[in-house]
Amino acid sequence: MFGLKTDWAMDVSPRYFTLEDYEGGVARWCPGCGDHAVLSAVHRILRDQQLPPEKVVAVSGIGCSSRFPHYLSTFGFHGLHGRALPVAEGIKARRPDLDVWVATGDGDCVSIGAGHWVHAIRYNMDMVVMLFDNNVYGLTKKQTSPTSPKGLKTNTHPRGAWLPPVNPLQATLGFTNVSFVARTVDWNPLHLYATLVEAHKHKGLSFVQILQRCPQYTGFIYEELQNDPDGLLLLTHENGVPVDPALDRMYKNKLEHDPSDIHRARELADQHSPIPIGIFYRNEDRPRYEEFSTQGMDMTVEEKLAGLEAELDKFAI
Ligand code: SF4
Repeated sequence: MFGLKTDWAMDVSPRYFTLEDYEGGVARWCPGCGDHAVLSAVHRILRDQQLPPEKVVAVSGIGCSSRFPHYLSTFGFHGLHGRALPVAEGIKARRPDLDVWVATGDGDCVSIGAGHWVHAIRYNMDMVVMLFDNNVYGLTKKQTSPTSPKGLKTNTHPRGAWLPPVNPLQATLGFTNVSFVARTVDWNPLHLYATLVEAHKHKGLSFVQILQRCPQYTGFIYEELQNDPDGLLLLTHENGVPVDPALDRMYKNKLEHDPSDIHRARELADQHSPIPIGIFYRNEDRPRYEEFSTQGMDMTVEEKLAGLEAELDKFAI
């Protein structure tokens, strides 16, 4: 990959990794929190794809979901509020051989990290970005987040959130160089797993909004959807999330959507009833910034020195 001079490459004999090889500390999320389901899906994907733990990095910002790296026995970086994406980009820029998974929340990504969000989509570096969207700041005990529904009573808006919420998919689909946008739900392990597998397969930044239950503060928001699958619209296509018979039986509402159609993807992102889940947009041809940032990484010291000399010679009088 990238003709890298991999000083860090290890010559190891073939290994088989079990789930235990990826499991970190005991998760401290509330019982019933959707974060548990996402963690379990990622554990299974790492095991099923047999990704060496030392080749995986989980990166997060601040929030309940940002405790994610602690629960993986891989490399991890629990960063600053809103700063998961630039850290992940820095890692990918110099270590394109690593598998990068970003855990960020609606407060972390869509509020304080919004500037980084725009540019991370544009840089399109190969990583999976999971937006845990529980519509509230949970870690700090129920403040309005940018995706809180209008009227939601919180500690910062006791009489109800005043503004209409940001639609993270609609926004992402408007950013330059977007290459993969999907939505799934934490309470359907089949769809969650299949969506994250497709996101991981994609070459570029895969942005996945996960509708995430927070039984502590906003449990009622997704309760109806959880009990009534007719509130969801399953997007189907040969380039979308694969629909096995079990998934097919679960959803009455289905729509064939070609993920190469960005205009239709934008229309679907704006649809609220039923709520579409699946891959909205996918484009493998977008430029990825690591293709640029890794240039020259395989140069020898002699080649680097020769390059420097050549540059300095330009100023010789
Ligand atoms: Fe999960 Fe909500 Fe508890 Fe945070 S406060 S751990 S999001 S249930």
